[in-house]
Amino acid sequence: MKLLEDRIRRDGNILGEHILKVDSFLTHQVDYQLMRDMGQVLADKYRAAGITKVVTIEASGIAPAIYVAEALDVPMIFAKKHKNITMTEGILTAEVYSFTKQVTSTVSIAGKFLDNNDKVLIIDDFLANGQAAKGLIDIIEQAGSTVVGVGIVIEKSFQDGRQLIEEMGVAVTSLARIESFAGGQLHFAPADA
Ligand code: 5GP
Repeated sequence: MKLLEDRIRRDGNILGEHILKVDSFLTHQVDYQLMRDMGQVLADKYRAAGITKVVTIEASGIAPAIYVAEALDVPMIFAKKHKNITMTEGILTAEVYSFTKQVTSTVSIAGKFLDNNDKVLIIDDFLANGQAAKGLIDIIEQAGSTVVGVGIVIEKSFQDGRQLIEEMGVAVTSLARIESFAGGQLHFAPADA
């Protein structure tokens, strides 16, 4: 998605060897117009698939996911990273290793929000090694729901996430794909949408 690539080139900052900081429009301050445009593009990709729920993981997946959900006119569910005393029954969980925080946490979704009729589109801000998406697939499958695809805002294709998810039989659609940070520059690969 050219608009997104242009924005990443303009406002993204490379941190170390593997991390892209995009806190001015995606992960901290949020550009809702860009989110809305991205939501439309991802929704168009999956419109024919009969998606019934959009699922993401807090926190930075929520902004893009809500606009995909709006465009598909379905609910959005975000997996919670912290145990909450109001979540009392039927909790589905998975262990997820966080690439940026370097800790493993238990993420959870209340089982009452998913059932075996649901066709789910997973949305996340980044795809790195695929652990967040894998954890979400695990939870959604525990509920008996079907994962139709994974929609990603920024994929770092030099990491293993796509391979992991595709090997689980789930299609990945990325709006921007960065193939390297060589020479401290952003090098894009062709995106899926
Ligand atoms: P994965 O689970 O695919 O290894 O990593 C994906 C998760 O880690 C995303 O939900 C995102 O929050 C975070 N993440 C991975 N790489 C980056 C990055 O380069 N920049 C930022 N801001 N977050 C990242």
